Amino acid sequence: MTDLKQQIIAIAKEIGISKIGFTTADNFDYLKKTLTRAQEAGTNSGFEHKNIEERVDPKLLLANAKTIIAIAVAYPNKLPQMPEKSAYKRGKFSPSSWGIDYHDILAGKMSLLAQRISELTDEFDHKAMVDTGALVDTAVARRAGIGFIGKSGLVISKEFGSYMFLGELITNLDIEPDSPVDYGCGDCERCVTFCPTDALNGDTTMNAKRCLSFQTQKTGYIDEEFRIKTKSVLYGCDICQIVCPYNKGINSEPQTSIDPELSYPELQPFIKLTNKEFKEKFGEIAGSWRGKNVLQRNAIFVLANLNDKTAIPLLEEIAANPQNAVHQEAAQWALDKLKRTSQHNRPLKKNRERGKIK
Ligand code: SF4
Ligand code: SF4
Repeated sequence: MTDLKQQIIAIAKEIGISKIGFTTADNFDYLKKTLTRAQEAGTNSGFEHKNIEERVDPKLLLANAKTIIAIAVAYPNKLPQMPEKSAYKRGKFSPSSWGIDYHDILAGKMSLLAQRISELTDEFDHKAMVDTGALVDTAVARRAGIGFIGKSGLVISKEFGSYMFLGELITNLDIEPDSPVDYGCGDCERCVTFCPTDALNGDTTMNAKRCLSFQTQKTGYIDEEFRIKTKSVLYGCDICQIVCPYNKGINSEPQTSIDPELSYPELQPFIKLTNKEFKEKFGEIAGSWRGKNVLQRNAIFVLANLNDKTAIPLLEEIAANPQNAVHQEAAQWALDKLKRTSQHNRPLKKNRERGKIK
């Protein structure tokens, strides 16, 4: 079915799919051991599909499965423009959470692709999956030739680096599979070295619970180590992508409009948003899915990390309010950190004034 394959590739291009690849619906049994170990050790994020058999066998998801079509949609990692200068300090959402939720963008493209394929051939069966689907996206994308899996655990292509959203269509079509790519990490270990929380194991696996991306999405209290290491980030973490040589010079076109004011919000006004205001302003962006409480808690940590003393009155107000115990504790922590920083800086300042430290 070479012809059909070429027609599908042409449609994918037409509808803005950045890269497409094809692989068989053979199982991914080799993943069973790693997935089971991660589940038992509790080093997965908990957001994954729970049934491991379904994670490794496409035929349990579509009985007559023959080919999996893997798709990648590239996203930008630089804002089209920076936000306005402001009297307030700003926090950052990481690039994968800018603009409309990528699950919606990918789901839309996959449904359009499926609809267009069904116009090409009778008896087209399929099952579409994005991110939280059963199959392991990275394993499918690797086998379908989208890219290799780096030590960061991310799929990396030469064209788009690791800045890609992945999805797949399990189909009953019989299409010639593609081969995995022939490039990889080599001796590079930059992502492992620069990961601030030592979350990466160096063999493409990770302790997802130590990843700042997980920590900034987790509800409730978070450990001090992670509060500090998030620095100015409200949601996500990109360090392992920023340091990757394959991402150097890469910046793809956005598939959705990106508002810099929402991507880098002013922290103090952000913390004061009511539920209604939050939904109206931030409801559409991908990073809002965890809700206002988690993001405002992170914003409190960021105020302390950025040493924003102008926030002390606001933090005192939150620390005095027992209605939200998590925010109250976060604000008290931030106040203590800001005070510690002042004490720590005082003699240094004095010495500078006296000319003892040049
Ligand atoms: Fe480490 Fe950040 Fe990458 Fe997570 S996203 S593995 S914390 S560098
Ligand atoms: Fe591989 Fe280096 Fe990129 Fe990590 S930073 S994924 S080791 S190429």
